[in-house]
Amino acid sequence: MQIPTKLPKVGTTIFTVMSQLALDHQAVNLGQGFPDFPVPQRLVDELAKAMAEGRNQYAPAHGIPALRQAIAAKTERCYGRTVDADAEITVTSGASEAIFNAIQALVRPAEEVIVLDPCYDCYEPAIDLAGARAVHVPLDPVDFSVDWQRVRDAITPRTRMLMVNTPHNPSGAMFGTDDMAALAELLRGTGIVLLSDEVYEHIIFDGRRHESVLRHPELAERSVVISSFGKTYHCTGWKVGYAIAPPALSAEFRKVHQYNTFCTFAPAQWAFAAMITQEPKHYEQLGDFYQAKRDRFRRQLEGTRLKPLPVPGGYFQLVDYSAVSDLDDAAFCRWLTIEKGVAAIPLSPFYETPPAGQRLARLCFAKVESTLDAAIERLEKL
Ligand code: PMP
Ligand code: GLN
Repeated sequence: MQIPTKLPKVGTTIFTVMSQLALDHQAVNLGQGFPDFPVPQRLVDELAKAMAEGRNQYAPAHGIPALRQAIAAKTERCYGRTVDADAEITVTSGASEAIFNAIQALVRPAEEVIVLDPCYDCYEPAIDLAGARAVHVPLDPVDFSVDWQRVRDAITPRTRMLMVNTPHNPSGAMFGTDDMAALAELLRGTGIVLLSDEVYEHIIFDGRRHESVLRHPELAERSVVISSFGKTYHCTGWKVGYAIAPPALSAEFRKVHQYNTFCTFAPAQWAFAAMITQEPKHYEQLGDFYQAKRDRFRRQLEGTRLKPLPVPGGYFQLVDYSAVSDLDDAAFCRWLTIEKGVAAIPLSPFYETPPAGQRLARLCFAKVESTLDAAIERLEKL
């Protein structure tokens, strides 16, 4: 039987492909973004406790009140915005579910969604499934900054949503206050919804400030802000995240959420509620924790022929490999994995049209020292 595909452009994600290749060739896996160190013990204990106490049935669809209140308090503390835990916060099964819900709920067929390339791979399939069209605006190929005039030029009467991501995957680039001002000016007077993907909100370096949309009242009024506990608490496999949006946007978002997953894994919600409230220093110190890893890894890379680009935030290091090879990035990353024993992620899958001649690969440094040391030992031989 011929199955007509709804997603003709979609294959297996580059993260799955590279992790499998790493496994097949016993490569050190610096590809797919996940920590290889344990989650905080308190979180494990709280999860076990929640299950033992019988928190195992459906949670309220929008999330347990204790977790939504903890998120509201944290949001106020971090960004100075008071959000209504009942009407504005929805707990989801990872940021991925939140991104999917927001697009399905808010974007109608034939409308347009502006994405900034390179962008995370789950955006466009969700736009396609909504019957809408992704309009790709490239970031600067060197420093991954936004040319706001190009974004302005891409807006049409059909534009329904703009998607942004800071700190940025794959580059680590972060918005500054000037970006937020440009963004506010750009959207003022339009009906465009802003989807702000802030899953790396606490992984920020060198004393920089995360420009959450939640700090900017004018922007927050038209935005869905999405985060993920997977990044903040070293548990990407738990798949718990959330969306914060004004009541009218949240009401539409929840229509999709309640029929997509209905609710998110209940015991983890109790565990996160306890963790956020009782151990705020975990997220407060996360930037320093990762900065130490970034700095050490970058120092080690100086002994290789890979040229590291700056990393303001997130847990990915981009490297320019042009001194090593002239292969395109997909071929280079396969070669690096199979022949040299280190798995990396090429950037081209994050683009509609990758910049010609770009020779960059992404390495994840959310790893224990011994993993990074093993990778460096192999990279030194390039
Ligand atoms: N957005 C970005 C930029 C990401 O890097 C990721 C995953 N690492 C997600 C969304 C999805 O997050 P989650 O695993 O919580 O679904
Ligand atoms: N977000 C992770 C990354 O960028 C991958 C998540 C996934 O494999 N779906 O590496």
